[in-house]
Amino acid sequence: MKFYSTNNIHITVDLQEAVIKGLAADKGLYMPAIIPSLPSDFIHSMADLTFNEIGYKVIGSLLADDLSDEQIKDLVDHTLHFDAPLVEVGRGIYALELFHGPTLAFKDFGARFCSKLMSFLLQEKNVKVLVATSGDTGSAVANGFYNVKGVEVVILYPKGKVSSLQEKQFTTLGGNITALEVEGNFDDCQRLVKEAFADRELNDQMLLTSANSINIARWIPQCLYYFYAYSRLPDKNRAIVFSVPSGNFGNLAAGILAERMGLPVSFFVAATNLNKIVPDYLGGFPYSAMPSVQTISNSMDVGNPSNFPRLLALYSQDEVLLRDSVKGYFYDDETTKDVMKKVKENFGYILDPHGAVAYLGLKDFLNDKIGYAGIFLETAHPGKFKETVEKSIGENIVLPERLSAFMKGEKKVISIDNSYMAFRNWLTNLL
Ligand SMILES: *Cc1c(COP(=O)(O)O)cnc(C)c1O
Repeated sequence: MKFYSTNNIHITVDLQEAVIKGLAADKGLYMPAIIPSLPSDFIHSMADLTFNEIGYKVIGSLLADDLSDEQIKDLVDHTLHFDAPLVEVGRGIYALELFHGPTLAFKDFGARFCSKLMSFLLQEKNVKVLVATSGDTGSAVANGFYNVKGVEVVILYPKGKVSSLQEKQFTTLGGNITALEVEGNFDDCQRLVKEAFADRELNDQMLLTSANSINIARWIPQCLYYFYAYSRLPDKNRAIVFSVPSGNFGNLAAGILAERMGLPVSFFVAATNLNKIVPDYLGGFPYSAMPSVQTISNSMDVGNPSNFPRLLALYSQDEVLLRDSVKGYFYDDETTKDVMKKVKENFGYILDPHGAVAYLGLKDFLNDKIGYAGIFLETAHPGKFKETVEKSIGENIVLPERLSAFMKGEKKVISIDNSYMAFRNWLTNLL
């Protein structure tokens, strides 16, 4: 498979370059040059296949030119290790729970896939993955890359500005994972990482790469959620709508990729918190980035969604088609808390704040249009947002074993100030 840049469809690179570079030289995002079409008999047979079997076929259709059958199997088996059912939350509405990975958030899957794919593509080389995080990405990447040979992960996070649970998830592992606690805020961390990527001399000395959601190695595997959800839907005769809680819009873009590959989806709902750039755009306004605002669904507090160019690319830049196929909805924190309470009362189901936003979007969509089966993506375990969820539903929730296990680990960090020199010195002394 070749990959083109969303800024220039005529320049293509191979899988290895797309994964190692992350972002194209012209700052565009990589996209598969050909979107494979899966035969409808495969789509109809999925109900009888396991999650992994579906994965071999879907990932194979995208990456079989570049990887052996054995590698594709290994990649999928390493990434997917659960068979979560769809949970019915009210009639015809289903939650797809994507939080059964090691850090209980859906980013685990992309991170695991990314680490395995990098280890195949890098062969004998050693690579350093630099990640700036405000919390969730750091924990998913740290756990996804833990013990992967040839890859060292450096996580930069703002001192005192991530939750203690999140901090434990990436500071207690040790091994090939190093956490750098930066005197500063998230923007400082991001700046340090960007400066390192732009530092020619440094890049001659070491192979640096990123593992954020613009990297196709993290983006592509997410289309599997949608194939899997469809395969487990009891009533496939109704038209289907997916509602996706969105921040950088990688997940939603991967859903559209699945649809372009032949999955019968009628509509997508782009559900956001008050960071509503994309719902505004879908409602007919020009696209306009804004400073992010803080909300209780903080993994979606994004003011300039990085995967937006992929949405347009998937519809061949046809804005009318994009606006016809994807419907935008946004909600404030009060509405989100309120629905968490109501859904617990009415259906006994506990939503996390991100899933709650997706549920709201789906409900509003279904109010306007009847006869659809709706699936919303539950992207994090409610225990990750314990305080907010408990206050909303008025009950205590139990932290799952995996989360409480992290809390017992011992934090190991290296502290640096927020200057690039400090970061660079530390990186080069690592050699
Ligand atoms: C990252 C994240 C999202 C947003 O996903 P995007 O692909 O960035 O749109 C939603 N929910 C949770 C819990 C997340 O961690």
